[in-house]
Amino acid sequence: MQVSDLAPAPIFRVRVAVPVHLYDCFDYSLSAELYQRAEVGARVAVSFGRQNLVGVIMEKLAPDVPLNPDIKLKAITELLDERAILNTQSLSLLTWAAQYYQFPIGEVVHSALPTLLRQGKPYNLLARTWKLLDAEAEQKVKRSERQQEAYKILKLHPAGTSENVLNLAGVETATLKALEKKQICRCELEAQDFSPMPIQMAQMPLTANPEQQHAIDSILKARKKYQAFLLDGLTGSGKTEVYLQVMQEVIKQGKQVLVLVPEIGLTPQTISRFQSRFHCNIVLLHSGLNDSKRLQAWQAAETGKASIILGTRSAIFSPLPNLGLIVLDEEHDLSFKQQEGFRYHARDVALYRGYLEQCPVVLGSATPSIESYALVQHQKMQCLELNQRAGTALMPKIHILDLKIAKKQHGMSQALLDEMKKRLDKNEQVLVFLNRRGYAPVLICESCAWQAKCPHCDANFTVHRTPYQHLHCHHCGTIHRMPDHCPQCAHTELKPLGLGTAKVEEHLNELFPDYDVIRVDRDSTSRVGSWQKIYDKIQQSQASILLGTQMLAKGHHFPYVTLVAILDIDSGLLSVDFRATERTAQLVVQVAGRAGRGERKGDVYLQTLRPDHPLLNTLVKEDYRQFAKQTLQEREAALMPPFRYAALVRCESKSQDLNRDFLQQHAALLRQSAGLNVDIWGPIPAPMERKAGRYQSHMVLLSPDRARLHFYIRNWWQNMLHQKPSSMKLTLDIDPQELS
Ligand code: ADP
Ligand code: ZN
Ligand code: ZN
Repeated sequence: MQVSDLAPAPIFRVRVAVPVHLYDCFDYSLSAELYQRAEVGARVAVSFGRQNLVGVIMEKLAPDVPLNPDIKLKAITELLDERAILNTQSLSLLTWAAQYYQFPIGEVVHSALPTLLRQGKPYNLLARTWKLLDAEAEQKVKRSERQQEAYKILKLHPAGTSENVLNLAGVETATLKALEKKQICRCELEAQDFSPMPIQMAQMPLTANPEQQHAIDSILKARKKYQAFLLDGLTGSGKTEVYLQVMQEVIKQGKQVLVLVPEIGLTPQTISRFQSRFHCNIVLLHSGLNDSKRLQAWQAAETGKASIILGTRSAIFSPLPNLGLIVLDEEHDLSFKQQEGFRYHARDVALYRGYLEQCPVVLGSATPSIESYALVQHQKMQCLELNQRAGTALMPKIHILDLKIAKKQHGMSQALLDEMKKRLDKNEQVLVFLNRRGYAPVLICESCAWQAKCPHCDANFTVHRTPYQHLHCHHCGTIHRMPDHCPQCAHTELKPLGLGTAKVEEHLNELFPDYDVIRVDRDSTSRVGSWQKIYDKIQQSQASILLGTQMLAKGHHFPYVTLVAILDIDSGLLSVDFRATERTAQLVVQVAGRAGRGERKGDVYLQTLRPDHPLLNTLVKEDYRQFAKQTLQEREAALMPPFRYAALVRCESKSQDLNRDFLQQHAALLRQSAGLNVDIWGPIPAPMERKAGRYQSHMVLLSPDRARLHFYIRNWWQNMLHQKPSSMKLTLDIDPQELS
C-alpha cells in the first residue's frame, strides 16, 4: 500500500483572536473531542511565541479546509469556557469595529472582556452575598443611620443580598463589615444567580408634555427595528424623562436597555434617578469599578440578568442577549471618543450596533454634534425637538462683557463682581467657569519677559501653589521646582501671569470674605470620593460661589445657581482646530444651562476681548441650533467633515525631518493608488510640534466616499507600519475628533 492512498487524518482547527498588536487571527489545532465542545465566542489559552495568552475563538474551521504547509500549527493549551461568552452579535460588532478603525482584532476583542476574564480566570467566580443573622437587632444599630439603613435592606431579603446590589443601594461594604462584627449579618461566598429579576415600577412617570409625548411615541413606534433618533432638547427640557418612559416599555417586553453617559456624567444623582424609577436589575459598567465588581456587572449584562446597563464609553461593547434600546446621553461629549490605542467613537459604534441588532438608538443632547445634524439632514436620523424647559424654569439670558473697556479687579470685570454680590446677598449661588486648572498659566520675568517653558514640550509651564510651589507641564507631566530668579537676567521678581482656578479662588476669597468658594477641578477632586463630598456641599450651601473647570459644566442640576460667569472664552475662539467653534459653542450653552434650573431665572455673563465675534453674536441673539445651521453650511462649503470623511495619521519620532520624509514618501504612494479619490493634506508639524521631547507630525486624508477612503488606506497603512523605523510611532485615527 502506498502512503498517498491513506486519507490524511482530519486536523481540527480553530481561528483565534489573540491579544497581540497584529492584524490577523491565528489558527490553532485541538483534539476532536475539544473541537466538538469548543464554541465560537469561548476563550482559549494559547501559547504565542514565548507568551501564554488568552484568546477568543472566532471561527471553527471545517476539517477539510486545506492546511497551509508553511505554518507550524500549535495546539491550544486549554479551553477556558464551555460556552460562548461573546455571542455572535458581539463578535460581529467587534470584527466590524476592528476593520472600521483599522485596529488589531485580537486587541479589540480583548478590550470587550473584563480584566479577570482577560487574565484567564474562570467565568463562575463566587459572589459575596450578605445574610442577616439577627432579625431583632434594631437596638444594636440605633446609633448609626448607615447601619440602620443597611439592616433594613438586609431584613427585606432573608435569602441574602449580593454585595453589588447593596453597594448600588448606597450601602458601603465598610458598614456591612461593621454589622458583621456585631454578629448581625454574615458574608458568604455563593455561586452567582443569573436569573432575571421581576420588574416593578418604583416611582410613577411624570405626565409628559406634548413634545415629550411625541418623542416617546415616535421612538416606541420603531421599537422592533433599527432607527436612529436625535433628541435635540434644551438643557432641562426633560430628555431624561423621555428616556425613562421609553425604557419602561422596552423593559416590560423583557428586553435590555443600554444607556451610555459621558465619563463625568455618571454621578450618584444620575444613578439614583434610574433606580428610583425602576425596581429591576440595574448594573453600572465604568472604569472606576474594581475587577471583581466589573466582572459581575459584565456577567449580569451578558447573561441577560440585568435589564438596564448604565455605563461609559466602553460599555458599548458589552454583550447583551436581549438588547432592545440604546440611549446615548450628551451625545456631543468628547469622552465618547477613545483618544488612544483603539480609537473608536462610542456614538458611531452605537449606531452600527443598533443596525446590527435591529433596535432603536436614541442620541440626546442640548448641543448636538454637527455630525448628528448632518445625519438628520441626510435623513439617516430622525430629529425630535424639545423646545421648552420642563416645569416652570426659563432659559437664561446671555450678556457679553467687553474686557477691553471694562473696569476690572483681578481679571474680573466690576459689573460682573457687582452682579455676583447681588445674587449672593439674595441667598443665591454663583457659578464661575474657567477651563484652566492650576494657579497661573504663565510664569514671566518682570524685567526681561522670559517665560518658564517645559524643556520637553513647546508649551509654558503652569504655576501651581499647592501642595507646594512648583511648575507643572500639563502636556507631559514634568514637574520643576519654582525658580527664585530669572535664568536669563537674574532678576528676582518672577510673576505668575493669567488666571488659573487656584488663583481665582484666592481672589474670590478676598473679594467675598463672607461667602464660601467651592472649587471643582481635577486637582480638588483627585482623591476618591472627594467629588461626591463637594457635590453634597454644593447641594446644601446656598449663597456660595462654585468655581471650576468643565467638570462643573455638564449635566449637573444645581437648583440654586442663578448666575453663571464664563471668565475666558477667547482661547476657544482662537484655536486652529476646525471644530473649535463647535466645542466652544457647546461649552457656552452647557455652562449656561446650569443657570436658572430652579424657580428663579438665570443670567450668564461672558467675558471676552472679542465681543464682536460672530459665534458669540449668534449664540446671544439666536441660539445653538442657528449656530449649528451656519456651521453645517460652512463645513459643506469647505468640504470638511462631516461632508467628507477623514483619517488622521499621527507620526512621532526624535526628528521632524524623519517624520516629514517618511510621510511624504508614503503620501506619494497613496496618491499613486488612490488618485483623486483621496485628498491628502500635509505632512505638517502638529499644533504642538514637540511634546515630551518627541516631534509630532500630522497628515490628514479626506474623501467624500467613506468606503473608498477605507479601501485605499487599508493596505497602505499596513505597508507603512511594516516600513517605519522602529523608533517611530505611527497611529491612525479614523474620524478624528481633534486634529492635535
Ligand atoms: P434634561 O435631561 O433635558 O436636562 P431633565 O430630564 O433632567 O432634563 O429634566 C429637568 C427637570 O424637569 C427635572 O427636574 C425633571 O424632573 C423635570 N421634568 C421633566 N419632565 C417633566 C414633566 N413632564 N413634568 C414636570 N417636570 C418634568
Ligand atoms: Zn529676566
Ligand atoms: Zn512638557
